[in-house]
Amino acid sequence: MKYADIIVDITAEQLDRTFQYKVPPRLQQELQVGMQVEVPFGNGSRVRKGYVIRLTDRAAIPEERMKEIQGISPGGVSVESRLIALAEWIRENYGSTMIQALKTVLPVKEKIRAKEERTVALLLGEEEAREKLAFYQKKHQQARERLLEKLLEEPRLDYRKALTQLNLTPPVVKAMEEQGVLRLESRQIYRSPLPRDGQREEAPPLNEEQTQAAEGILEEWRGENRPCLIRGVTGSGKTQVYLRLLEEILAQGKQAIVLIPEIALTYQTVLRFYRRFGDAVSVIHSRMSQGERYDQFLRAKKGQVQVMIGPRSALFTPFPNLGLIIIDEEHEGSYKSENAPRYHARETAIARGKLEGAHVVMGSATPSVDAYYLCRQGAYRLFVLTQRYEKRPLPRVEVVDLRRELKEGNRSIFSRRLQEAMEDRLKRGEQTMLFLNRRGYAGFVACRSCGQVIKCPHCDVSLAEHRGGQLVCHYCGYQRPAVSSCPACGSPYVGGFRAGTQQIEQLVKKLLPSARVLRMDLDTTRKKEGHAKILSAFAQGEADILVGTQMIVKGHDFPGVTLVGILAADLSLHAGDYRAAERTFQLLTQAVGRAGRGRQPGEAVLQTYSPEHYAVQAAARQDYEAFYEEEMSYRQLLSYPPASQLMAIHGSGPEEEQLDLAMEYMRRFLVKLDRGGRLQIIGPAPENISRINDRYRRVLYVKQEDYSLLTRMKDKLEQYIEMNSGFQKIAVQFEFNG
Ligand code: ADP
Ligand code: ZN
Ligand code: ZN
Repeated sequence: MKYADIIVDITAEQLDRTFQYKVPPRLQQELQVGMQVEVPFGNGSRVRKGYVIRLTDRAAIPEERMKEIQGISPGGVSVESRLIALAEWIRENYGSTMIQALKTVLPVKEKIRAKEERTVALLLGEEEAREKLAFYQKKHQQARERLLEKLLEEPRLDYRKALTQLNLTPPVVKAMEEQGVLRLESRQIYRSPLPRDGQREEAPPLNEEQTQAAEGILEEWRGENRPCLIRGVTGSGKTQVYLRLLEEILAQGKQAIVLIPEIALTYQTVLRFYRRFGDAVSVIHSRMSQGERYDQFLRAKKGQVQVMIGPRSALFTPFPNLGLIIIDEEHEGSYKSENAPRYHARETAIARGKLEGAHVVMGSATPSVDAYYLCRQGAYRLFVLTQRYEKRPLPRVEVVDLRRELKEGNRSIFSRRLQEAMEDRLKRGEQTMLFLNRRGYAGFVACRSCGQVIKCPHCDVSLAEHRGGQLVCHYCGYQRPAVSSCPACGSPYVGGFRAGTQQIEQLVKKLLPSARVLRMDLDTTRKKEGHAKILSAFAQGEADILVGTQMIVKGHDFPGVTLVGILAADLSLHAGDYRAAERTFQLLTQAVGRAGRGRQPGEAVLQTYSPEHYAVQAAARQDYEAFYEEEMSYRQLLSYPPASQLMAIHGSGPEEEQLDLAMEYMRRFLVKLDRGGRLQIIGPAPENISRINDRYRRVLYVKQEDYSLLTRMKDKLEQYIEMNSGFQKIAVQFEFNG
């Protein structure tokens, strides 16, 4: 590699501006992406520091005009260097530009000024100050007089307060500063967004299973240091294990990152870390401004905090000596980025761990099939917590067949069993959660008499109903006209499911007029603190029944809840993608797990049109292993990840015909590349949402067993797109195992 692209300043504006330098022969062996180097820069050829972000053989400018790298900066590898190396890994593995990857990983400064606290400090000794005061009096400079008098009482004043209280203007202060009377000082304020109630919690003794997991993980760290996965049933106390591991890391003088799905929904978890480690803990969340996030990153870099909690983006906290990354609720979809680079936080955490010598620990009651597969392969180490803390029983689950309800004349959205159970809880003063599972619902069509869902004959996923009734497969593009009766049993009761949470809330109120009902969905949580208000109201017993979407299934501990009603377990089952069964099992298991966390045992009523489906059955028995086995054989049969590797090529553009043509060209290009016939190419097809903001959207899938072969295909396609003028108005994004 003869040339290096270098960024000289790490700020948001400057990331796009790289400069190319020659790599002198003496550095060619040693130089790597991410390294900090010294380069001549600007006219006088002042030496500045920069970072290598790319090595190449192709010169971007004539060689005579290119300067040479002087040397590699001494003094070890900076955290920025390691993050740049991580960006390179992301670019290579997920397909994005290096700039996009850098913007994702680097704590870049924005032009907006961080909030400052400014103070005015007196520089003169008392005697000098009194002389000066007499001088101001003689000159009738009353404003200066007021400020100096005040400073004689109090040698350090808050700048803003001084201006208002003493009725001064900034030029007055400036003039006095120029005379050497005072100094204006500024200090960044780093806001910590955590409560300061001072409540602390001592570490409780771990139970036997928790101890075994913690000890086993510590042992793994001393040996092979593979990523560790804790599979623990809901309420088994995974957090206590994390806390124990964090203690160990902090005692070693290292820092840790704790990833959680969404702060608003997991506030209780955050508090538990805070109560144990106090000011060593800080958080990042999605409602923070860029500036606030940058503040948090700066605090981490300076060593002012040791534990950073936050969603996906907290993974890039620039800790100088990172020891551990924890990923709680590992199966959550929010760990996957929806925008380029479409990285997965689990894989990226493991990559960062390798680059920096840090450990990775994840936990879930319902691990992703991907992660569990890697446990089975021996790439991850598995630990299991089989029991709830204090051996509290898991909820009893009753599966209700909605087809039978219809047959027996009950057309209500609530089965007779669920109605009874709700009335019973109301009488006993216990709480109920009603869960409407609409996650990823893509408008499938099903028969209410026999449960039959209209599926694609080629892909074994459900067809989605489009406007005009046309049914479409989002994998291969297969289409068919609407159906008016069930192809299996002839029943006329076929159609989509359209009830929303609001409707359910009204139905509950009609059924149980004395019940106090709360609703939690996108509508009721849009306002600031919306989540927290509803959750704390329910936790304090201000309502008997909480109705909600998937938001209500996440990690809250409501000890008063003894009944969970799942209204239509099937909705997510037919979401039209190959992960639908997995997501359904996870949601159902987590929802069931909300019941009976307190002293009273819990019960769940699971209403479904597919009681025989393995995801429903396994969730009802809370049997992860059984689900995994079934699911893996399905993935193997149809070559879906993790049994095979899947690359999605997402294309979008303003003109439909042009986009279709471009997608077709890409397909042909892939067919040509694939000499050995080892690729399985599917599509192009319209995306789940086939147009957004007047941009049409299409997707092409490629299946292959070898991941590296797919990333090479991606590289070749990227070159093809770059050189082909037909792609100018078309945006292409790659996604792996999405
Ligand atoms: P999970 O995250 O695995 O669903 P939690 O960590 O929320 O479970 O634990 C469930 C409940 O049990 C919590 O209220 C927690 O405080 C309690 N708990 C778990 N382990 C212990 C322990 N070793 N000592 C005291 N309380 C514990
Ligand atoms: Zn039918
Ligand atoms: Zn299909």
